Amino acid sequence: MIYIENYIGGKLSPPASSNYLDNYEPATGKVYSQIPDSGDADVSQAMAAAARAYPSWSEQSHAHRHDVMMRIADGIAARHEEFSQAESRDTGKPISLARHIDIPRAVANFKFFATAAIHYASESHYMPEQPAINYTLRRPLGVVGCISPWNLPLYLLTWKIAPAMATGNTVIAKPSEVTPMTAYLLAQVCQEAGLPDGVLNIVHGTGPRAGEAIVTHPDIKAISFTGGTATGAHIASITAPRFLKTSLELGGKNPTIVFSDCDYEDALSTSVRAAFANQGQICLCGSRVYVERSIYNQFRDDFVAKARKLIPADPSLDSTRIGSLVSAQHHAKVLQHIAVAREEDGKILCGGDEAKLSGDLAGGYYLQPTVIEDLGLDCRTIQEEIFGPVVTLTPFDSEEDLLAQANGVRYGLSASIWTSDLKRAHRVAAAVDAGIVWINCWLLRDLRTPFGGMKDSGMGREGGWEAMRFFTEPKNVCIKY
Ligand code: NAD
Repeated sequence: MIYIENYIGGKLSPPASSNYLDNYEPATGKVYSQIPDSGDADVSQAMAAAARAYPSWSEQSHAHRHDVMMRIADGIAARHEEFSQAESRDTGKPISLARHIDIPRAVANFKFFATAAIHYASESHYMPEQPAINYTLRRPLGVVGCISPWNLPLYLLTWKIAPAMATGNTVIAKPSEVTPMTAYLLAQVCQEAGLPDGVLNIVHGTGPRAGEAIVTHPDIKAISFTGGTATGAHIASITAPRFLKTSLELGGKNPTIVFSDCDYEDALSTSVRAAFANQGQICLCGSRVYVERSIYNQFRDDFVAKARKLIPADPSLDSTRIGSLVSAQHHAKVLQHIAVAREEDGKILCGGDEAKLSGDLAGGYYLQPTVIEDLGLDCRTIQEEIFGPVVTLTPFDSEEDLLAQANGVRYGLSASIWTSDLKRAHRVAAAVDAGIVWINCWLLRDLRTPFGGMKDSGMGREGGWEAMRFFTEPKNVCIKY
């Protein structure tokens, strides 16, 4: 049994309470490690360590911070296979996804923000009529909290802590209690890379205990949170009255929009990938597919044929394209959504049931990719985030009809549009409620661009300079001469 430890003040240590939580391997449904059940005492220790580290880290040269962070990136890259296996084992995602997306992206996050630290410039404005110069000092905030979810555990954790550290803050991070393993490996890499003690502290445990202890700590200077919309609303209710800088990256119910003039094969294969990658557990997955009526029947049949070929299998195998869902609770929740779709008279075109594997995998949380049609905009299946391998197909008759349906939900994270009409592509991209829009592609992203959602998908933006700005306090200085 592996006992995961907190990383506080540069040391790996057990929780103050000595209490642990079971960590399940979703592929088998068996417990394979123990996670610290941390609470106030651990967060207080982490705060003390982070506060001690802050004066020196915040005053370090940009080049120094860059060098340390590049060593962390190299340390993850050097243990790429170990990280990939841990990521796949913790989440149930296919190992190929961990190897080719999650772990390389965590390395890229550290490299990107390490170099951003040395290239980041603040603004200056010359007023010739005075004359005067305004310049903006951007200082780190202090000790900041970073809370991340289970679906892309290392990728999303590093996406927050890297800009926080690059800008000179010290950090208390809490990974999801469902997927703690890669954060534990990251702590070891930070030690090997010579990260000064207390710059990054990782406290494991549940949201209500460890997470909330971070959010409510009186000395925390900002919260960067990624997770569900209900949790985000709860966190905002704590941070808003304290005017605490808060960034919330929340749920989605993203439309994939297919016009009849699209590149058919590309639209088809990418929309299937967008629906089912990571078992549909990526916040950017396209879970509502809208298809222009003239090609609807053909597209539906081809989509279903491709979905049927995605057979859930052992996540640790190279050949696997669909693994298991992340936990028993989440598996039950997704099945419950499918039951609701049936009650709503949705027509299940494929899937709709759990998938049973054999041997060691018999207790795993597998689900057949599920495609549903004949559901109206008001249905819960269309309105609510399911966050699993469940997708709806709906025809549309006009751009107006399409936009009414695509925008008729509370979420606004991302959208993808498939068309070869350039004018229409730009028109629909501007009109669709989404913080991120892909035209004739999905999940392509330059890390310099702002990342985040509209409406109930969040508040604030991450990525690139947006993250560097979030983790700094701007102070304008005007000098007349
Ligand atoms: P969640 O909200 O249950 O948990 C997210 C994190 O918050 C976990 O670390 C959890 O322990 C912590 N937490 C829970 N309650 C807390 C509290 N009261 N105080 C402080 N922390 C608390 O979400 P999840 O189930 O882990 O992740 C799935 C959700 O995340 C989905 O809704 C998905 O769309 C969303 N997500 C959004 C993005 C994005 O960028 N917009 C990216 C990935 C996932």
